[in-house]
Amino acid sequence: MSKCLKGESEVKKKDATFACKKCGAKTDKKTHLCKPKEIKEKK
Ligand SMILES: [Zn+2]
Repeated sequence: MSKCLKGESEVKKKDATFACKKCGAKTDKKTHLCKPKEIKEKK
């Protein structure tokens, strides 16, 4: 069962691999989000 960070990102934006579509939290752990969406940033 996934929990969610509820809008509180646990990593810095540039380090985030996933963002929650529901609350906007960013993380590198997909399972930490309720609606994970993979985000990729290129330099
Ligand atoms: Zn969420």
